[in-house]
Amino acid sequence: MQIHINHVDISVSVGDITTWQGDMIVNASNSGLYGGGGVDGAIHRAGGPQIAAECALIRQKQGGILPGEAAVTTAGKLPYLGIIHTVGPIWKGGGAGEAATLAKCYINSLDMAIVRGAQSIAFPNISTGVYNFPKLLACQTALSTVVQYVSDRDSRVLPLKTIAFICFEQDNAKLYEETLKSYM
Ligand code: ADP
Repeated sequence: MQIHINHVDISVSVGDITTWQGDMIVNASNSGLYGGGGVDGAIHRAGGPQIAAECALIRQKQGGILPGEAAVTTAGKLPYLGIIHTVGPIWKGGGAGEAATLAKCYINSLDMAIVRGAQSIAFPNISTGVYNFPKLLACQTALSTVVQYVSDRDSRVLPLKTIAFICFEQDNAKLYEETLKSYM
């Protein structure tokens, strides 16, 4: 399903993000930008070793990235303008600013996509895997941040036309659909 806010489609679907068709995808990476499991592993496997090679360069140059930050690499064999790697917060009970850090992941990724001229971007459900962020709060944080981001901008100069949330798990998709409805 999808909603339309300020000339941008915000959609939710179930699937593997590496098969999504669009300009850029976001990876839920780790601070060292080492390919890991989950969506990170899937993107590195599908894109090939060029992605890890560029991650190593970023590591050398700036020692990795902090939670909430983002960096761009080639998409390797994948047909995208690039991969945006962001690092979600590890859930520590909610008192360590986790929701604010998660919001920064979405904001910084959208900023980077716009700089690259992307018209469409897809996000996985950052931090809801091994980083253990509660799924409902992660969903509410993701959607409220993205809706606010799109609403705050002048649609005449915003290249982005589509923001897709790709849920790997049905329970996340259900949460996203229910929360998205509240913005209709
Ligand atoms: P994190 O460390 O940020 O928690 P994970 O990769 O463990 O990252 O999980 C983030 C989310 O990505 C989870 O909801 C997981 O189900 C989902 N995920 C795993 N593989 C894929 C994939 N191929 N495409 C989209 N989402 C995926």
